[in-house]
Amino acid sequence: MSDKFVPVTGGCLCRAVRYEAEVNLDEAYYCHCVTCQKTTGAPAEIGILVKPGTLKFTKEDPKFFQTSPIARRGFCRHCGSRLIYVSQCREDWTNVSAGSLDHPERVVPTEHICVESQLPWYEVADNLPRIRSEDYPDLEEAWASAGLTHEGKPL
Ligand SMILES: [Zn+2]
Ligand SMILES: [Zn+2]
Repeated sequence: MSDKFVPVTGGCLCRAVRYEAEVNLDEAYYCHCVTCQKTTGAPAEIGILVKPGTLKFTKEDPKFFQTSPIARRGFCRHCGSRLIYVSQCREDWTNVSAGSLDHPERVVPTEHICVESQLPWYEVADNLPRIRSEDYPDLEEAWASAGLTHEGKPL
């Protein structure tokens, strides 16, 4: 498990929040869920998984907001950059936003998730796997643990 994680640094636009972490740059994913759309203001978010226990904020901490019953997202309280997703169900789902990395060009996207809410005009010209939420048993389980039913499940 450990060899796919590499040390990286990143942070927000205004540099008040800076982080170090070990992340998996080779399995980034587009998340098309509606919560990612709202919290980024973009059609999708690209998440980079963090090795549990390795994320460290080296200046200010981000401000966390409870964005759904199963997760919090962290933002810079000064410039508003979205930086991090913290799952309350699975420690290994914690991820940082691709754009927050100091070297986002190293990221290799490998799949699309929550494609049932992908915007019809947002087409990404790749042949990567496209996964609907209902075909992702771990996610179903996380939602169930929060008492959520099939419709309108937010990430
Ligand atoms: Zn900032
Ligand atoms: Zn999402």
